[in-house]
Amino acid sequence: MPYHVSLIAGDGIGPEITQATREVLEATGVKIVWEEVFAGQKAIEKDNNPLPEKTVRSIKKNKVALKGPLATPIATGFASVNVLLRKSFNLYANVRPAKSMVGITSRYKDIDLVILRENTEDLYSGIEHVVAPGVVESIKVITKKASLRISEFAFKYAKAHGRKKITAIHKANIMKLSDGLFLDCARRVAKKYPRIEYTEMIVDNACMQLVLKPHQFDMLLLENLYGDIVSDLAAGLVGGLGVVPAGNFGEKGAIFEAVHGTAPDIAGKNKANPMALILSGAMMLDHLGEKAAARKVRAAVAGVVKKGKVLTRDLGGSASTQEFAHEIIRAIDRSTSRDYIAKIS
Ligand code: NAD
Repeated sequence: MPYHVSLIAGDGIGPEITQATREVLEATGVKIVWEEVFAGQKAIEKDNNPLPEKTVRSIKKNKVALKGPLATPIATGFASVNVLLRKSFNLYANVRPAKSMVGITSRYKDIDLVILRENTEDLYSGIEHVVAPGVVESIKVITKKASLRISEFAFKYAKAHGRKKITAIHKANIMKLSDGLFLDCARRVAKKYPRIEYTEMIVDNACMQLVLKPHQFDMLLLENLYGDIVSDLAAGLVGGLGVVPAGNFGEKGAIFEAVHGTAPDIAGKNKANPMALILSGAMMLDHLGEKAAARKVRAAVAGVVKKGKVLTRDLGGSASTQEFAHEIIRAIDRSTSRDYIAKIS
């Protein structure tokens, strides 16, 4: 039986990298029926609604989606559809692994971090109002329920993936109530997992420590905003936004997308690195139970990067999005993929 997966191509470089990812995932032999739906700017143009009912229905039915990045207007316009999607499907856990790869030039070797970001509340609640002319308030919402839930997810993930240590990142010296509650919940859950080391660090120090001594960290547990910022920092430690994948998980489904955005500066030029979305696709295969296919994709990506002959510009090469993806397909299975590439070219 094929898997049914909702596919949102997204904006900017989205269509290029989702096409590349589709081709790579299909080359593993896993049968996927892609249900293409729209969100964001394209959905507004088609349906005058950034998150049309058809898209919501498709994800509800399939429970799995692969998503390209969506543009959010800055300081005006509609609210982030990325945030809306995560909230609509209660995808409370954002998992963002950042791992060094041989062949990718970066400041450090052997980085292996997992960022665990709470995905549904904090300053992303979108509650903002004008108190008086020239004075606005943004409300930071932290609840016991969501903080316990993300902490449980983090420790369960650590146990399942053999991780040794979780560091909760906070600013509870200043936000004593909100970040204090988050920490209190993390500590309560940590007590149930004595084999996993639990530490805490203030977010500003954590940023410096990540840059100076990143190997001291294993998994980072963060609220929504700190998680968003620190995951881009972690991406910078392993080669940039073009290489780090992500998955959003909840009780009713999962949406897989890269950490990066729409990269408007290189959109439509066949220059974008599809690797982050391809590796997000590998996370999706794991989630579907297709572990062998996921391993194949990761090994193929690692092989192509290590060889260093066909790389996109962000990795120091000159290959196009498509050339890089096709090199990965060749690496997935040299014996069968020649026919496959001929078919899709
Ligand atoms: P961005 O991630 O789009 O780009 C930052 C820099 O990284 C740019 O120089 C870009 O060229 C580069 N880059 C990003 N992805 C790359 C790739 N795959 N290959 C090569 N280079 C890559 O961040 P931004 O410019 O701050 O945001 C642009 C838009 O994306 C905004 O509208 C923002 O709201 C949106 N965004 C969406 C998501 C999402 O859909 N999950 C995440 C972040 C930002």
